[in-house]
Amino acid sequence: MARAPGIPAQPLLVAFLAWLVTACSTKVAYVDDERLRNAEEEPENWLSYGGGYSEQRYSQLAQINIGTVSRLAPAWSFDFDTYRGQESTPLVVDGVMYVTSAWSKVYALDARTGAMLWSYDPEVPGSAGPKPCCDVVNRGAAVYKGKVFVGTIDGRLIAIDARTGKPVWSTLTVDPKRMHSITGAPRVARGKVFIGNGGGEFGGRGYVSAYDTETGKLVWRFYTVPGDPSRPGDGAASDEVLERIARPTWHGPWRDYIGGGHAWNAIVYDPDFNRLYIATGNGFPLNRKYRSDGKGDNLFIASIVALDADTGAYAWHYQEVPGESWDYDSVQDMILTELRIDGVRRKVLLHAPKNGFFYVFDRASGELISATPYVPNITWSKGVDPVTGRMTVVPEAYYMDAPFTSSPGAGGAHGWQPPAFSPKTGLVYFPAAENSTHYISTPDYEYVEGIDSPGFYFHGAPAHGAESAAPQRVPVGVSTRSRSYLLGWDPVARKAAWRTDVRGGGGVLATAGELLFQGRSRNGVLGELAAFRADTGEEVWSYKTPNAIMQAPVTYSVDGEQYIAVTSGAGGAGILSGGEPAYARQPGRVIAFKLDGAATLPEDPPLAPPPAPPEETWPTAVVDDGKAHYARLCGRCHGLNMRSANIIPDLRRSAALADKEAWRAIVIDGVLERQGMVSWSKFISPEGAEAIRAYVAEEARRLAGSIKAQDGSRPSIQ
Ligand code: CA
Repeated sequence: MARAPGIPAQPLLVAFLAWLVTACSTKVAYVDDERLRNAEEEPENWLSYGGGYSEQRYSQLAQINIGTVSRLAPAWSFDFDTYRGQESTPLVVDGVMYVTSAWSKVYALDARTGAMLWSYDPEVPGSAGPKPCCDVVNRGAAVYKGKVFVGTIDGRLIAIDARTGKPVWSTLTVDPKRMHSITGAPRVARGKVFIGNGGGEFGGRGYVSAYDTETGKLVWRFYTVPGDPSRPGDGAASDEVLERIARPTWHGPWRDYIGGGHAWNAIVYDPDFNRLYIATGNGFPLNRKYRSDGKGDNLFIASIVALDADTGAYAWHYQEVPGESWDYDSVQDMILTELRIDGVRRKVLLHAPKNGFFYVFDRASGELISATPYVPNITWSKGVDPVTGRMTVVPEAYYMDAPFTSSPGAGGAHGWQPPAFSPKTGLVYFPAAENSTHYISTPDYEYVEGIDSPGFYFHGAPAHGAESAAPQRVPVGVSTRSRSYLLGWDPVARKAAWRTDVRGGGGVLATAGELLFQGRSRNGVLGELAAFRADTGEEVWSYKTPNAIMQAPVTYSVDGEQYIAVTSGAGGAGILSGGEPAYARQPGRVIAFKLDGAATLPEDPPLAPPPAPPEETWPTAVVDDGKAHYARLCGRCHGLNMRSANIIPDLRRSAALADKEAWRAIVIDGVLERQGMVSWSKFISPEGAEAIRAYVAEEARRLAGSIKAQDGSRPSIQ
C-alpha cells in the first residue's frame, strides 16, 4: 500500500481509533486532496488526468532512462470492445489501473498484468452517437475517496464504487434535448467533482458544474457566456459577472442557440489559491458576423476563467481570442508551476492553445506575463498590445467582406493532446503544427440544430474538423499542414529550445529519466510509441503499435518495475483524416511497456476489403445532389470528401451500398441506431438518402478502379 495512513502521536488513542476506522473501511482508490496535492511524492501512481493538481504530466520515476530505454518492450495489452477512438489517460492507484474507453465505458485492470478486475458500461444510447463533434471518445476518469467518476457522451456524470465497479450515483448534467456531450475527464477537489461539456459546433451555451462527490448534488454552476437577455438570470454563480463584464461584449439579435464557449477539456484545480481554472472553446456560430453582429469580444469564449472552487465565484479571466471566429478553442490543458521570471519567483499558469501563442499567466492576479508565438507566420493577430495586454486581431482576419487565409488554421497549432512540463529542464513539451485555413463567410446564415452550422466555408465546402482540411478544398498556394513537430518550449526565454519533426503526434509524458514519451500515428490508423531526449528532442527509441496513439502516455510502478502505459485507437478528430490504404477495423486497446517486457502485440490489421459498388448508375444531377447531402450530413463522421479512415465505416465498402432497401433502412429508419448511426429522416427525404447512395456508389467505383489500376498492390506505408 503506497500511502498507508500514518498514526499521529497526539492524542494517541483518538488517533489510533481514527486510523483503525479508516483502515477497516474501504481503502481502494482512497485518493484525497492531500494525495492529489503531493502526487509527485508517490510516482508509483498516476492519480489524476494530468498526474496531480499541477497537471505537469511529469514523473520522478527514472528506471526507464536514456541508458535503459532500448530494453523497453510490451509487458501486456488489453483490448477494448470497440473500434472507435481512444483518448483516455489511464489512472493508476496502488496497483490498479482505471481507464475509460469509447462510449464512456470504464475498466479497472491489474496494472501489473492487464487482467480485468471489473468493467462498467453506462449504456450510452446509440442515439447520442452524433452529439460529439468528433467521435464517441472519452479522455479519462477521476478517482477520489474510493469512487471513480466518469462523464458520458449523453451528458451524465456517474460515480462508481472503485472496489466493485457498481454505480453509486448518476446525475444528468445537460439538457438531453440539446447537442451537449461529455468527452473530457472530470477533476476533483474538496469534496466536489467538476465537469464541463462539449457542443460548441452545434449551438448552446457552455458551462462548468461542481457536484458533491458523495451525493451527486449540484453545488454550483458557472455559465461561460450570457443567456437570452429577455429572460431572468440562470440563478447560477455566473449571473453577476456575466451581466457586468460579459454581456456588454455581445451584440445583435439574440437567439437561443447562440453562445458557445464550451469547457470541453481543461479544468484545473489550484490548491495554492483554492481556485478552479476553466478553459473555454469557440463561440457559436463560429462566424462572429452571425453570432454578434460582427463585433464585440464575446466574453468568455476562447478564454481562461478563474473561479473560487467552493462557490464558483468569478476571480479573473483572460480572453486569448477576442471575437473568436476561426474555431480557435482555448481548451488545451493548463500547467501550474513556479518560474523565476526577471529575477522574481512567480506562481504561473502555462497555456498553449490552438491560436499559436504560448501564454504565461500569474496565477495570483491573472496578470498576463507573456504571450509569444510558438509557431511562425501567424496571420490572424499581431500579438499582444504591451500596454493593454489585449490581443490585437488583424481586422481582415474576421473574413467579413472578403475571404481570409488564417494561420494557424482551424485545426489549430496545438490540439487537445496534453502537454508536459519538466521541472528538470524547465521546458514545456507538446505537439505543434503549422497550418492554415482559407475562411469564406457564408452569404447568409441558417441554424439547423443537429448538423454543423458554423457560418463559414473552406473554399466552398462546409467547414468543420479543419484538421482534415483536404488540399482540394483550399486555394492553390495555401498550405494546409506544412509541418508538424514535437516542440520543446522555454516559457522563460520565450523561444523554442528544439523542434523534432513528428507527424500525427499525440500528448506527451516527461520523466526524471531525462525522457519524453509520445505516441503517434502511422498513416492515420496504425501507431507507434516513441521516446525522446528531454534536453535535445533527439528520438532515442520507438515501437510500432497496431493502433494509432493520440493521448499522452502515463508512467507508474508496481513491485519495483516501472511501466509506460498508453491507450491506443485511431479516431477522435482523426476519423476525418484517413485515406488509402484503408485498413480493416480493429479494437482499441491499452498497452503497457516495461524493461525487458515479454508480451507481443497483435499484428497490424489487414488492408480493408476493396469496395464493391453496385452495377446501377444514376444521372449526374442525382450524384451531385448526393454529394451535397453527404457533405452536409455524413462527412463529419464518415470522412469529408469521402476521405474515410474506416474507423467509422467507409461507406464505399459498406455491404448496404448495393442494397437500396438496406440503405434506406439504415439512413431513414435508423436500424443501426445502437451503433450510433441514427435515423437522419429529420434532415433528409428517402429520395435524398438514395442520392447519397448514388454519390457513394460513384466514389466506390472510382476507388475500385484506382486500386485495380495499381494491380491490387496498394502502397505500403512507412
Ligand atoms: Ca471547436
